[in-house]
Amino acid sequence: MLDKVVIANRGEIALRVLRACKELGIKTVAVHSKADESLMHVHLADESVCIGPNSPSDSYLNIPAIISAAEVTDASAIHPGYGFLSENADFAEQVERSGFTFIGPSSDVIRLMGDKVSAIKAMQKAGVPTVPGSDGPLDDNHERTLEIARKIGYPVIIKAAGGGGGRGMRVVHRENALINAVGLTSAEAKAAFNNGTVYLEKFLENPRHVEVQVLADGHGNAIHLGDRDCSLQRRHQKVIEEAPAPGISEDKRATVAAACTRACKDLGYRGAGTFEFLYEDGEFYFIEMNTRVQVEHPVTELISGIDIVKEQLLIASGLPLSVTQEDIILKGHAFECRINAEDPKTFMPSPGTVDQFHAPGGNGIRVDSHLYNGYRIPPYYDSLIAKIISYGPDRHTALMRMRNALDEAVIDGIRTNIPLHQDLVTDPQFQKGGVSIHYLEKKLEQ
Ligand code: ADP
Repeated sequence: MLDKVVIANRGEIALRVLRACKELGIKTVAVHSKADESLMHVHLADESVCIGPNSPSDSYLNIPAIISAAEVTDASAIHPGYGFLSENADFAEQVERSGFTFIGPSSDVIRLMGDKVSAIKAMQKAGVPTVPGSDGPLDDNHERTLEIARKIGYPVIIKAAGGGGGRGMRVVHRENALINAVGLTSAEAKAAFNNGTVYLEKFLENPRHVEVQVLADGHGNAIHLGDRDCSLQRRHQKVIEEAPAPGISEDKRATVAAACTRACKDLGYRGAGTFEFLYEDGEFYFIEMNTRVQVEHPVTELISGIDIVKEQLLIASGLPLSVTQEDIILKGHAFECRINAEDPKTFMPSPGTVDQFHAPGGNGIRVDSHLYNGYRIPPYYDSLIAKIISYGPDRHTALMRMRNALDEAVIDGIRTNIPLHQDLVTDPQFQKGGVSIHYLEKKLEQ
């Protein structure tokens, strides 16, 4: 078993990792920026190290500072959480080279999945369904590019191989705009990601976002924990997630999940991971793999009974998976509302002091949050301050419990998006289930 873990993150996920470590008897080191001395997990950790000034690039993205913190505290492993360095292959490589365990897959696998063209190739090999497209980079042969698009049919989307965070994409509706758009996207991608490689896909006009959670131990064992629907998004940021994805046939669900576990075995995958798909007209289309724990992992924990973060720590300790696919019984339904410190109408960030914090409770309610009375939310980081998660034996019960929880929650002193969530959980279309990724933005426009 790992004996001491550096938690290279902040906020609710740092606290989540700390709790899992404590449960397993693993010592913890909190590394934090100057602005983050008062974070809850910093107080609860066995040791803490200030790794730099407030700016993320000087602290949570500062690779040498994080590795030195592991060295001075004699830790054995580093948990990257999500965001920050969690999908940075160079970081994973340097952690391993410095003699620490990176809690995640090998740097080679992170690199492979970080390049969308190579990720798609790997998926196709494993039989994971992908979006019809160029199956590789576009080149200077314009006739070939036009021919590919003609075959697929318009609209198409041009995507940067090195893109991320919803950037580096351009939709093309007509043939006469294609070549110019390819050139533009490539130039932008070169400037933004230092990689001008672009490829082309069919543009799906009204898809849902459905993803599959996997766990693999690097010893050849891989399982899936079912799927989640994260279609409710604003500017490519998820707002509400649920598990399982509603209204998908058991057959389709099982087939795609089986393909994901097969891909994990093929890749020699290690750790927790997520295969993201667009789902349209009853079909799944792979878009990318996230090689880390995700914000929305709790909804899967509630329907599967598996502690995903604990499994990450056990896998990183070199242990085989503690469960087989047959042991996994998915039961009930779960929702997660991401509570942000922001104005519910303008979405302007709203940092500041939390005068009063009251977490909701009751049957089937879980709150993952680092807030406490008097905590000051600094303005330098992501605005996620709490995740309210509800569970019920069925979707309706889980949704009603979420509605109650949102009504009970008190976060005074700052503005939050709780009013938006209250509106969404009573939205008839959302209540029905299965809205597309454009639903929230269209609703907000009205
Ligand atoms: P990123 O790594 O930037 O998140 P993704 O490949 O996951 O990039 O795509 C981000 C978002 O862009 C998707 O969630 C979806 O909304 C949209 N998108 C990507 N590919 C397609 C496609 N082929 N058709 C329609 N929308 C797409």
